[in-house]
Amino acid sequence: MHVHVVGNGTGGTGCWLRVRGWQRPLAALMLRHIGLPREAMTGDLDRLYVERLLEQVRGSSLGAAVILAQDLVHNEQGRPIEGAGSFYVPNDYVLNLSRQHAEFLPAVSIHPARPEALEELNRCLDAGAVMLKCLPNCQNINCSDRRFTRFWERMAEAKLPLLAHTGGEHTLPVVRPEFADPRILTLPLECGVTVIAAHCGTKSGLFDPEYFHVFAELAVRFPNLYGDTSAFNVPIRGRHVPECLRQPLLDRMVHGSDYPVPAHGHFAWMRGFVDWKSFRRWERQPNVLERDYQLKLAMGFPAESFTRIQELLRRPRPKMAGTPAPLLS
Ligand SMILES: [Zn+2]
Repeated sequence: MHVHVVGNGTGGTGCWLRVRGWQRPLAALMLRHIGLPREAMTGDLDRLYVERLLEQVRGSSLGAAVILAQDLVHNEQGRPIEGAGSFYVPNDYVLNLSRQHAEFLPAVSIHPARPEALEELNRCLDAGAVMLKCLPNCQNINCSDRRFTRFWERMAEAKLPLLAHTGGEHTLPVVRPEFADPRILTLPLECGVTVIAAHCGTKSGLFDPEYFHVFAELAVRFPNLYGDTSAFNVPIRGRHVPECLRQPLLDRMVHGSDYPVPAHGHFAWMRGFVDWKSFRRWERQPNVLERDYQLKLAMGFPAESFTRIQELLRRPRPKMAGTPAPLLS
């Protein structure tokens, strides 16, 4: 339930990508990680990326992947901030991809300060959105701004869950570091939205503030708060796996990969979360979605943490009679 789509706009997808300075080697690393050549960045990236992702989902134990749109960075008045942000993925792109491929489920992205935010939300609901994604610290979204109450109420009413980035971030430029605090999600939680705190508030860089305990406290207060395991196979984020495997958090965990963020088992093995045999076996697995899944199984995440998302995603009414419900893990 946490798979990124990226593109440079080739083929008229509407996506764009702006990789600068220190993000260049990181982007090249991610491309290599998913088996794409460096030249893909300036070539037909959109098609290559989707083909590769489809191949990986089909070749893995997963039934489907929720693919994420990425809205622009907006100011408080809901106007796009010129030059901010490093990539953009339009809602229509993920909605169309999901119409073409049963392996994909669409998560849209809407900055709630946009003047037509509610209209766009309703449009995306009609088009079959199953989730909404936002990055408060990177997209400048103060989720607890009272002006957004109606937006969250509409999401709650439509049973559309919110996946919100929490904790530090080093892959994308951060506009408001203080919005990494999971407490920013209080208003949507109070409005009854099912909220999934991506990364459970864990820190990404060594010097980031740690919000895991804040996430854990909020989860006790709000039964509608969940946390995802995305990027738990990178060095620092995975530190809190033992707490995530204990109640009350265990019943709130959902599986996310954060694809194309690299997934490696070294850190889980060094911390004793997986044994040597599992580490050796799964680190060799070339399918990175499968590797991430198997490493998390080896850490002790139960089957429910991979299927729980089925109960949380919005189930759009099938357009035609007899359309099968999506099967996913
Ligand atoms: Zn992510």
